Amino acid sequence: MLKFFRRKSTKAPKPNRVREHAIRKQISDANALTVIEVLNANGFQAYLVGGCVRDALCGVKPKDFDVATNATLETVRKLFRRSRIVGKRFPIVHVRFGRDLIEVSTFRQSISDKIVHDDKGMILRDNAFGTLHEDAFRRDFTANALYYDPNSDEIIDFVDGVADIQRKLLRFIGDPKTRLAEDPVRMLRAIRFSAKLGFSIDQQILNYTNETANSLKTVSPARLFDEFLKLFLSGYAEQVWRQVRETPIAGALFPCCIPSSPLVLAAMRNTDERILSGASVTPGFLIAVLLWDDFCARSLDQDDPEDDPAFTTLKNQQSYVAIPRRFGAFAREVWLIQERLHKRNLKSLDRLATHKRFRAGYDFLCLQAESNEQIAPIADWWTAFQAADGSGRQTLVSQLPKTPRKRRRNRNRTKMTEKIQ
Ligand code: ATP
Ligand code: MG
Repeated sequence: MLKFFRRKSTKAPKPNRVREHAIRKQISDANALTVIEVLNANGFQAYLVGGCVRDALCGVKPKDFDVATNATLETVRKLFRRSRIVGKRFPIVHVRFGRDLIEVSTFRQSISDKIVHDDKGMILRDNAFGTLHEDAFRRDFTANALYYDPNSDEIIDFVDGVADIQRKLLRFIGDPKTRLAEDPVRMLRAIRFSAKLGFSIDQQILNYTNETANSLKTVSPARLFDEFLKLFLSGYAEQVWRQVRETPIAGALFPCCIPSSPLVLAAMRNTDERILSGASVTPGFLIAVLLWDDFCARSLDQDDPEDDPAFTTLKNQQSYVAIPRRFGAFAREVWLIQERLHKRNLKSLDRLATHKRFRAGYDFLCLQAESNEQIAPIADWWTAFQAADGSGRQTLVSQLPKTPRKRRRNRNRTKMTEKIQ
C-alpha cells in the first residue's frame, strides 16, 4: 500500500518524498543504476524518471528506463563511451549497454524563451535547461513526472502524481488546452497509457479530442510513425483502436481507413495475441490492413492498366503517418498476393506456397475470412493445403472449381485474315 508524506508548503517548492512503496526491486535495472552511479560520482544529481517509475508503481514491468540529470547532454556524452546525443526537438543522450539503451535527459524548464514555439503554440525545439522542480513541471502527465532516487529509495513527487496513479487517472500538469497545443501527440500518449494501464483520461483532456485531431495534421509524419508503432505494437492495439476509431483521430492518422472495418479490429486483436505469445509482428502487416480498403477501391476504379493503385494508396498516406519504404513494400506484397490466393492457379500453387510473403498473405486472408463468408472457404482451403501431403494436395486441387480456359487467339489466322483483306 502506498503512503506518502506531504511536507508543509514553504515558498521554495518542496516535493512529496514517498518512502513507503514497493518498487525498489522492479525498478533496479543494473544499467540505469550504473548511469546514475557514474553521474553521482561526478557530482551530478540523477534519478530514474517517467514511465519506469509509473509502471513500477502500477505493478507493471517497466519497458525501458529513463534517467534525468542536471549534467548537460555534452557532459553525459563525455562520461559514457558508448553514448550519443539524439533528437532535434527534444535532444537526449542514448547510453548503450550491449543491446540495452538508457535514455538520459537533462532537467529542462517548461517556460523559457529558449523554447521555440510556432504561431499556434506548438513546441518546435526545447533546449532550455532547468532545475529538478522545473523539469517535473515540463513533463506531460502527473503520473509521468515522478523521480526515483535509488540512493534514498524515495519517490520525489512535485505534482501529486502518486495520488493520480492510485486513482488511476491521467491528468496533465497545467492547462490541457495549452499542453495539447504545445504538443498534440500528448493526446495519443494519453490514449496509449490509458489502454496499457487501464487508467481513465481526465475529461478536460478528452474535451479537446476534435481540436487535437485537427492539430495532429501539423505534426511531422515521421514522428507520427514512431508513435504509431508504440500505439499498435505494444500489446494493447485492440483497446487503443477501439478508442481511436470513435474519434476524428483515426482520420487524422489514416484518412482513407474505414474506422468500422472488422478487418482492422481483427488485425489489432491478432497483433496483441501474437505479441503476448512471443510471435513476431511487423508494422507492414498493420499498414496493409489499415490501407486495404483504399487499395481495393483504387484497383477497381483503375482505368489505365499502367496505374499502380498500391503506389497511389501508399503515396497518399505519406503526409499523415509516414510509412518507411520497407513497410510500404511489405504491405504492397501482401495486397498483390491476395488475388493469387483467391485464384489458386493450378500451375503455380507450389511456387505460391513458398513465396516470401505467402505466410503474411495467408494470415491476411484468414483475418478477412473472420468477417467475410465468401472468403472463409478459400482460407480454409489454404489451411488444408498447407497441412496436406502430396496426394492430399492433389485431392484438394481436384476440388477446385474449374475455371473456363481462355481461348487463345490464333495469331497466324489473324495475320492470314489481315493478308486476305
Ligand atoms: P513508455 O516508455 O512506457 O512509452 P514513458 O512515459 O517513459 O512511457 P517516454 O516517451 O519514454 O515515455 O518519455 C519519458 C518521459 O519523458 C515521460 O514519462 C514524460 O515524463 C516525458 N515526456 C515524453 N514525451 C513527452 C511529451 N511529448 N511531452 C511532455 N513530456 C514528455
Ligand atoms: Mg520511457
